[in-house]
Amino acid sequence: MFLPRSLKVKRSADEDKSTAKKNKFSSGEHLLEETTEIQDCKSVTKEPSASGCSLNEVVEEYREPVAMPSDLGVTSTSLGKDNQNADEGSSLEEPIKSFSKSQRWAEPGEPVCVVCGRYGEYICDKTDEDVCSLECKAKHLLQAQEKEKKLKNDQFTKAESQTETLLETSYSYKDHSFILGLQDEQIRNLKLQLGISVLGQQVPRPIIEFEHCGFPEILNHNLKNSGYEVPTPIQMQMIPVGLLGKDILASADTGSGKTAAFLLPVIMKVLKETETPSALILAPTRELAIQIEKQAKELMAGLPNMRTVLLVGGLPLPPQLHRLKQSVKVIIATPGRLLEILKQSSVQLHGIKIVVVDEVDTMLKMGFQQQVLAILENISHDHQTILVSATIPVGIEHLVNQLLHNFVRITIGEKNLPCSNVRQIILWVEEPSKKKKLFEILNDKKLFKPPVLVFVDCKLGADLLSDAVHKITGLQCISMHSEKSQEERTEILQGLLQEKYEVIVSTGVLGRGLDLVNVKLVVNFDMPSSMDEYVHQVGRAGRLGHSGTAISFINNNSKKLFWDVVKRVKPTGTILPPQLLNSPYLHDQKRREQQRLKQLQNSLVTGDNIMDIIRKHDKNNSQR
Ligand code: AMP
Repeated sequence: MFLPRSLKVKRSADEDKSTAKKNKFSSGEHLLEETTEIQDCKSVTKEPSASGCSLNEVVEEYREPVAMPSDLGVTSTSLGKDNQNADEGSSLEEPIKSFSKSQRWAEPGEPVCVVCGRYGEYICDKTDEDVCSLECKAKHLLQAQEKEKKLKNDQFTKAESQTETLLETSYSYKDHSFILGLQDEQIRNLKLQLGISVLGQQVPRPIIEFEHCGFPEILNHNLKNSGYEVPTPIQMQMIPVGLLGKDILASADTGSGKTAAFLLPVIMKVLKETETPSALILAPTRELAIQIEKQAKELMAGLPNMRTVLLVGGLPLPPQLHRLKQSVKVIIATPGRLLEILKQSSVQLHGIKIVVVDEVDTMLKMGFQQQVLAILENISHDHQTILVSATIPVGIEHLVNQLLHNFVRITIGEKNLPCSNVRQIILWVEEPSKKKKLFEILNDKKLFKPPVLVFVDCKLGADLLSDAVHKITGLQCISMHSEKSQEERTEILQGLLQEKYEVIVSTGVLGRGLDLVNVKLVVNFDMPSSMDEYVHQVGRAGRLGHSGTAISFINNNSKKLFWDVVKRVKPTGTILPPQLLNSPYLHDQKRREQQRLKQLQNSLVTGDNIMDIIRKHDKNNSQR
């Protein structure tokens, strides 16, 4: 029968509309939604002919039997509340007008049909516009469809021609007029509030919106598509510095948006490069490299000739070599695999214009350091270099100075302090009691928020503890470490993101850079070997401003970290266990550091000690 079918059409149309509205606020996908809506109209107006909907067919379909206004996807403006009775099929009501010519002309003040100008008795359920009849509704929907098509075409042509212009004109970053219009005082306040500190010469002001960068339209669109509405603090400062072509050493919290902060300057730098490859991004683990490539692809979508290649161990080499031959612009690699490929001369790096080293503290440590330096030797000296990490230990600063020229140092938040949105709990737990304590946490309704990431210090420990957790608590638990195959590692990461696992017991492989957005609780079952590692592991629980908790078990096995824990965790307001605060090791470490500082101060020339130093120097000389 006619009535139920029509009702169905009307109801689904209403649902479409509310979805579309919701999407308009949440993402840039509303154009897509609206197109779907208009295409849906075809189902109301029957199949379109080659030139669109056939008006006669539409009208014919609705002519017999007589239908009520509310049944037809149009609502009578004049009948108003009476429509509620339509279901009851009151035969007294007027049939809906099929043709425009059967409609009267509008009286002054009455709604007017958007197509023919007669009395707009009905509201089109697809567009909320006033129409006079089924004929005009169908015409109106065709017009809307055409308009939508034209708009899409225009947008596409605009984007295409913009890309062409973009490739012809050269890009150079300048502070946006809005940013230039701000007072120095305002910029100082902005930096202060966001915890941005910079060291270097001719540092551009931070941007406030991505639009301030003058990116091509496609890139702005891709940023919105990825959900990047406004830049994060590290992006605000790092993007303009990177776009100016300066070398950068940046440290910011884990999960603060560092990847996009280096990817955007990379993209703009190599967009017009003809030589391939022209950008190199190095990361310490395959998972991190895979994640960086994913983000790079999202941001580069639709930009011409912007191919990426992933060169990482654990995945077969031939497909990587094959892709490398396809004029790829950006290499994302782990050092070992890239060196292997360099050794067989399957890639030339002399065209590289920009190098990024992510997680630079790990990358410049023994083990990786030689590999990274060997790779950099293959690159010509005039490239731009960006080094990033959450922690920049003092020990690597001399190497950093060798790798960077006239660089800008950007720090967000407290230097080398753990992510401030992670609540840190440090518990004194002796070795034999650790398992029991972990089970208590996993049973505690307030603390247990799956998926939980438990860090241990060895692979065997990860396997054993994972089994024990599953047996005792019945929770879905899995171990993760470097001896797992690449397929297993990928499956585990996906399982973690899809909440298949409630607990993952991992070695440090999951500690770095990976965007484990849904992790709310981290347990350091074994304290990591350094506080830098601690900062990274704790940071897994607080991605991009989300709050999380990190519980760390500490005992005398980590005694060499005591003073560092006090210096780096106490300032965040965490209460430290008395066993740690009263430990003789702590006091010894503190005393030694103070002595070292004193010696250092004595060897420095200051206004206060300069005369003493000269006198001592004279005395030594006269004695000789
Ligand atoms: P990262 O620190 O680069 O690993 O980024 C952490 C997470 O933040 C990732 O999921 C990014 O996609 C996301 N992200 C980065 N920048 C922004 C931004 N400006 N707005 C929203 N999300 C972002």
